[in-house]
Amino acid sequence: MTQAAEIEAQKIGKKFGGFAALEDVSLTVGRGDFLTLLGPSGSGKTTFLMLLSGFEHVTSGRLLLDGADMTATPAEKRGFGMVFQGYALFPHMTVEENIAFPLKVQKRDPQTIKRRVAQMIEMTGLGGHGHKKPSALSGGQQQRVALARALAYEPSVLLLDEPFSALDKNLREQMQDEMRRIHRETGTTFVFVTHDQSEALALSSRIAIFERGRLQQLGPPREVYERPENRFVAEFLGDINILDAEFDGADARTEGRTLKLAEPTDRKSGHIAIRPEYMTVATAPLDDRNSICGRVTDMTYLGAETRLTLETPGGTPLILHVPTAALPPDAATGAELWASWKAENSFL
Ligand code: ADP
Ligand code: MG
Repeated sequence: MTQAAEIEAQKIGKKFGGFAALEDVSLTVGRGDFLTLLGPSGSGKTTFLMLLSGFEHVTSGRLLLDGADMTATPAEKRGFGMVFQGYALFPHMTVEENIAFPLKVQKRDPQTIKRRVAQMIEMTGLGGHGHKKPSALSGGQQQRVALARALAYEPSVLLLDEPFSALDKNLREQMQDEMRRIHRETGTTFVFVTHDQSEALALSSRIAIFERGRLQQLGPPREVYERPENRFVAEFLGDINILDAEFDGADARTEGRTLKLAEPTDRKSGHIAIRPEYMTVATAPLDDRNSICGRVTDMTYLGAETRLTLETPGGTPLILHVPTAALPPDAATGAELWASWKAENSFL
C-alpha cells in the first residue's frame, strides 16, 4: 500500500559548533529495508535520524531520496513518519483524533480519514481504545498510538528513535514482534534507532553500527555478529573471547598450544576471536577441535544455560555459554576444564 523510498547518505558530516557529532558517514537504505542504527549513547544515532528527517541539516555531504538530492529539502516536504522516544501524543485528543491528526493536516476527505484510522487501530492492536485519551492508556498502548499516527498517512520512510526504551522487557519483546509484522505488512522503509544489540539483531534486515560519530560496519545481523570487522563491533554485539596469538599459515600458537585457523593468514601475529556459544566444555581436550584449558573462576546458573568463566594459564578470561544439560558433572569453581571450538567458528 505504501510507496517505499530509498535513501542514500554520501559522506555525511555534522558539527555542533566545533564538535563533530558525525564524520564521513556513507550508507544506503534500500526500498523496504529495516535498517537499525545501533551504537552506544552519544555515538550520533539520533543526530543521523534528525538529518534524515530534515529537522537538522548536514554540515557536509549529500542526502538522496530515490536518487534525487534532498539535502536542502525541509522536513515537511520530505514527509517522513517519525516516532520519538517520548511518544509526543496530543494529551487532549482521543486515540482516534491523534491518529487522524496528520491526515486532517493533509486535508484528506473525511471518508478516507475514517477508513485509515480504523485500519491503523486494527493493525496496531488498539481495538476498543479509540475513544480514550492517552492518559488512560498504558505505556505500550501509547507507543502503539504513536506508531499508528506515524503510519496513518502512508509515509515512504518511517524513522523511529528508541521507541521501546520506556517499556518493560516483556512488552518490548511483544512490540518487537509487532514491529516486524507491521514492517512486513506496510512494506515501508524503516530506519530504527536503538542502543540495545539484541533488539537490533532481532528486528533488522541490516544493522549500521556507530561509534563516536563514525559508521563502523553495515550488514545483515548475522554478518555483523559472526564476522565483525573490528574489535569495537565484535565486543559491542555481545560477549566474545579474544586470544593473542602468533600465526604460521593456518596454525596459531597461543597459551603454549598450536591451534587451527579457519583459513591461512599472511599475518605473523594478532587475535583469534570466538563467540561463547560456539565453545563447548569438557574435562579433556577434543581431538577434532581447537582446545584450550582453563580454571573455572565463575559459574552463573541462568536456567537453560550456565555462564562459565575460565582463566587460561596465560591469564586470559574465557566466557562460555553452556547448555546446563551439557555441563560436565564435576564443573565447579576451581575445576580445570577444556574449552573447545571448531576452527571455522573462529575469526581473526
Ligand atoms: P545518540 O543518539 O547516539 O545517543 P546523539 O546523536 O544524540 O547520540 O549525540 C551525538 C553527540 O552529539 C553527543 O556527544 C551529543 O552531546 C552531541 N549533540 C547532539 N545534539 C547536539 C546539539 N543540538 N548541540 C550540541 N551537541 C549535540
Ligand atoms: Mg539518541
